[in-house]
Amino acid sequence: MLPGGVNSPVRAMRAIGRDPLFIARGVGAEIVDADGASYIDYVCSWGALIAGHAHPAVLEAVSVAAARGTTFGAPTEGEVSLAEAVAARVPGVAMLRMTSSGTEAAMTAIRIARASTARERIVKFAGAYHGHSDGLLAAAGSGVATAGIPASLGVPAAVAAATIVVPWNDRAALEAATALEDPPAAIIAEPYPANMGLVPPQPGFLEFLRERADACGAVLILDEVISGFRVARGGASEASGVSGDLVVLGKVFGGGLPAAAVGGSRALMELLAPVGAVYQAGTLSGNPLAVAAGLATLELLDDAAYARLESATRTLAEGIAAAAGGREVSLSWLPGLLTVFFCASPPRDFAEAARCDTAAFGAWCRALLERGVYPPPSQFEAWFPSLAHTDAQIEQTIEAARGAFEAIS
Ligand code: PLP
Repeated sequence: MLPGGVNSPVRAMRAIGRDPLFIARGVGAEIVDADGASYIDYVCSWGALIAGHAHPAVLEAVSVAAARGTTFGAPTEGEVSLAEAVAARVPGVAMLRMTSSGTEAAMTAIRIARASTARERIVKFAGAYHGHSDGLLAAAGSGVATAGIPASLGVPAAVAAATIVVPWNDRAALEAATALEDPPAAIIAEPYPANMGLVPPQPGFLEFLRERADACGAVLILDEVISGFRVARGGASEASGVSGDLVVLGKVFGGGLPAAAVGGSRALMELLAPVGAVYQAGTLSGNPLAVAAGLATLELLDDAAYARLESATRTLAEGIAAAAGGREVSLSWLPGLLTVFFCASPPRDFAEAARCDTAAFGAWCRALLERGVYPPPSQFEAWFPSLAHTDAQIEQTIEAARGAFEAIS
């Protein structure tokens, strides 16, 4: 009934040589599949569930909202409250436009950038994923990388030609792509890229993005769909001190329901219709249930929550690294994000990530699943430790990782 058995490709688990798991239910950090097997979940709906499954505060907020009506297609107070909560956290956000997916939000950011600069070409980084709109699939990470295809069939050549792809962490290539003779409309980047596995910026690289965007008059779009509200209260924009002109949010923003957003200065955001002439719309945009889930989730994210995310991820990362012994495995992590690379040192760009031993990685993931741990089933994704993962579950995971390393040796 469903192509590949799924509604989004990486779920099919083909990259690790498995069939997909069908999930029946989840609570906290645990999920139970349709056969009754339970797993400690590190996918957490690809990072949407920073508080874990079925968090009581999120369920309560959603059920209160649902009882009032599930959608109106008209503004609600909750949308304003959520926009205010975001503006209070994320530097550079004065206004917000909500969408139902990160794909739409990134696509809208590009459209605003093109309108404001009257230019067409955009610069993106190899291995970065910004959703599946035509122009952003060039050399994308996540499922595109997992499937081993450089782009997608069905994308018009003229659309692909307007995207310049630059290796991540490569200053010379970025400088060439933002040369003043023919400058781009936008530079779009995941500030802490997590769709080629987690490959953080080299020191000074985010500052260099800002500098190049300013020098050539391009709009800097920081795609914080993963890093937003995760690596810090104000995301990478706060943690790194580098702000974009536009920021793209999703996942945690919707608290596990379909919601995303693009935000930025009033001047850029008011280019959007109905104030400006950049068209963008959505039947379910700002959906009351998603807004309630997003607000309830942001309220859980206080200083103690970020301290816990940091310590839980550190324990997990150090434990897995120790469990790997002398194997050619390296770890990359930030609070709430972690990738176990099957290569000797953490990759600095997508080309290096692509040289990891994906066959050994796949075997290790299968062995983890047999031991009750559900990892993202691709080398080119990040694990998402959440606030719901207990110390005992983290210890259990480290033991499972050790057993899985031994099993594949
Ligand atoms: N941007 C980033 C950084 C992402 O990781 C994703 C999805 O994983 C997207 C955009 C697209 O978001 P969505 O899947 O909600 O369309």
